[in-house]
Amino acid sequence: MEFAESKSEARRLIARARADGKTVGFVPTMGALHRGHTSLIEASSSEHGYTVVSIFVNPTQFGPNEDLDRYPRDLKRDLETAEGAGASLVFAPSVEEMYPAGFTTFVEVSALGDVLCGASRPGHFRGVTTVVAKLLNIVRPDVLYLGRKDAQQAIILSRMVRDLDLGVKVRVMPTVRGPDGVALSSRNGYLSAEQRACASRLFESLSKAGHLFEAGERDVSRLVSAARAVLDGEREIAVEYLEVRDAESLSELSRVEDRALLALAVRIGDTRLIDNIILDPGTGSFEA
Ligand code: AMP
Repeated sequence: MEFAESKSEARRLIARARADGKTVGFVPTMGALHRGHTSLIEASSSEHGYTVVSIFVNPTQFGPNEDLDRYPRDLKRDLETAEGAGASLVFAPSVEEMYPAGFTTFVEVSALGDVLCGASRPGHFRGVTTVVAKLLNIVRPDVLYLGRKDAQQAIILSRMVRDLDLGVKVRVMPTVRGPDGVALSSRNGYLSAEQRACASRLFESLSKAGHLFEAGERDVSRLVSAARAVLDGEREIAVEYLEVRDAESLSELSRVEDRALLALAVRIGDTRLIDNIILDPGTGSFEA
């Protein structure tokens, strides 16, 4: 596996792989790699001769009171994990390499970034779209691999790719969960054992609504009430939002008639967790 810290070295290595006739898959991450990340790396390496994994804790997507400083970082372990999953190149630039002095250009996907997570994290998605646009320009992959776990992020980045004609295919992969249903996340490490037990209620809540949907319920307020009832009994869980929205436009819905996103964000102690399922009236079932 190759390693680059500078944009020029990453470009040189990727150009060499291209010259060898390889297609390029790209998995952007913030490191602290777990099976959610390796599922994306494995999908890419099964489909491309060259898989690039970026590891960059992007400061522009963190708010002033968020966990930028304590976000877990362990490059040595991440390199082993990425290599084990089939990565060809890890690109791990410094903040200065990505945002040199004088940097002042941002990419913004309007409206989609103002709801759900965007409502409580102003500027978050602007940071995400800016860094991913930069990374796509450096890597120039054939396919960008994203996780459904961050559903709004995947929707916004897919929109950015279409709107700006970035010429990359976007593949959104299923959420990888622990045996207790908890979506794997680098932030799960912040949870105590009791909090972790509480976190399993999130997927229980989504599944409750999901099963109701499978039984034929299409009324959004009834689906949301069923999911909420599971969380309301938990004193440790503070719900930030629990909503059903159109899975492409993120517009509000009163009934589920097209693919819809049931998404939630909660706080358990100081830790903010998100999760979601897709309600698909085409199949009559939900995707976890
Ligand atoms: P992050 O390092 O949290 O920025 O995530 C990097 C990529 O991995 C994003 O596309 C995430 O959606 C994806 N990802 C994170 N956790 C999971 C998970 N549990 N299952 C699937 N994909 C995930």
